Amino acid sequence: MKANVTYWLDETAARLPDKTAFADEKKQVTFGQLRTQARAVAYELIERGYFKRPVVVFLEKGVDVLVSFMGAAYSCNFYSPIDVDMPGSRVNKILEVLDPAVVITTAELKGVFAQYAYQGEFLILEDALAGCDQEGTARDEKIEAARRKGIDTDLLYVLFTSGSTGVPKGVTINHRSVIDYTDWVTETFQITEQDSFGNQAPFYFDNSILDIYSTIKTGATTYIVPKNLFAQPVLLLEYLKEKKINTIFWVPSALIVVAKLKAFKNVDLSDTLRRVLFCGEVMPNKQLNVWRKFLPDVLYANLYGPTEITDACTYYIIDREFADEEPLPIGKAMPNTDILVLNDKNEPVAGEESGELCVRGTSLSMGYYNNPEKTREAFVQNPLNPCVPELIYRTGDIVKYNEYGELIYLSRKDFQIKHMGHRIELGEIETAVSSLEEISLCCCLYDERRQKIVLFIEGELEKAYINEKISHLVPEYMLPNKLITLEQMPINANGKIDRVKLKEHL
Ligand code: AMP
Repeated sequence: MKANVTYWLDETAARLPDKTAFADEKKQVTFGQLRTQARAVAYELIERGYFKRPVVVFLEKGVDVLVSFMGAAYSCNFYSPIDVDMPGSRVNKILEVLDPAVVITTAELKGVFAQYAYQGEFLILEDALAGCDQEGTARDEKIEAARRKGIDTDLLYVLFTSGSTGVPKGVTINHRSVIDYTDWVTETFQITEQDSFGNQAPFYFDNSILDIYSTIKTGATTYIVPKNLFAQPVLLLEYLKEKKINTIFWVPSALIVVAKLKAFKNVDLSDTLRRVLFCGEVMPNKQLNVWRKFLPDVLYANLYGPTEITDACTYYIIDREFADEEPLPIGKAMPNTDILVLNDKNEPVAGEESGELCVRGTSLSMGYYNNPEKTREAFVQNPLNPCVPELIYRTGDIVKYNEYGELIYLSRKDFQIKHMGHRIELGEIETAVSSLEEISLCCCLYDERRQKIVLFIEGELEKAYINEKISHLVPEYMLPNKLITLEQMPINANGKIDRVKLKEHL
């Protein structure tokens, strides 16, 4: 029984000390080095007296982030990555929710952090790693003592997602959930030390959990794919070939770009790629069929799930042909996970009736950090079990079963969207726009067909002006792609903005 994910790292480092664990463009670490460096960070955190406290990791995406994550885990603290490109006001909101014990960063990036509302402590990574090879028995004993105090329901990380009121929600996940999920991933897809992942997911996005922990558990290697390659499909495929990457777990948006530009014509991956897994948004069969045509022997799997259930809770391993216009199933529940599809009366749906997908199981988040109100809305008592306390997570996703008993994703029941792989609450954009002095009324809709965020306002402002003004409030991927100005916003019988009428403008 494991109470902490770092026991995997101990085992793998003992078995394969010199094998590369993670590599980015500038640095790579073996399992032995990863363990030593992570424990140097852990020791520093323990020496400062932190236990079960939030540790912010503010670093460029790369190997050092993973060293810091593992350092937090070894010391029984929990990590929360903050993207170095995130707008300042959003960082401040996250810091307010999290109230971190310490921020792990570099001496250089510490200067950048100075612009945020944070008066707390820093841990400078290069200082913590200096001389870390001379780790002594005294250090080992302290780390072991700290780790033994922790249990598997202690938090491992907090990932922040878009929040409709403008305040990001911190999804908490414990060690046990990640252990459960990783066991499923590695057993189902038979991941071993022979495998190599090509990581696409940012580390603040839950898809990265699969790459990180499958690697640590099995001794596989993860290459962190340079971000700019995702805009250059031929170079991207060449990179996969050069690094002998045989497994990718990407958002559909990344796979779609490759399919659209038919990059396979230039690079033959048939001897390299074995598994193409994806999750995070709808994968259209039209583009998947291009992948399948060029790489017919690859295993393809559609994973589904929100951050709140540790990355994924259902899966479908593609086992038959699909026409371009058919929906791809999201499949069935993973083992040790139960899916309830509930109708408006909170009863299980019958036949092909649609309902909200709700999840029960070890993978469930423990709630939103420091946000009991939002936690109570989404994590509720299982209506089918009146006898003992048992939480389910209401995903807000509408699904139905098809004739094979497979789940089909239909739509959302709220204003959360997926745009280029990013989860966005339209309300967060509306809150940012409303904060502008010149705006009296605004509303955001998503044009699914053209994949555009459309902003409606009353009045006469330019899109460039609005986007410039809100760029310090929301990340770049949330900036509206289209602006529609109206003399008057349509209002429905309840006195609310009439979104149905606005949809006619799309
Ligand atoms: P995130 O928390 O960023 O992983 O986003 C979770 C949301 O993404 C889910 O609630 C769904 O709306 C959507 N999603 C995730 N995986 C899939 C999938 N395979 N097919 C369709 N939508 C998905």
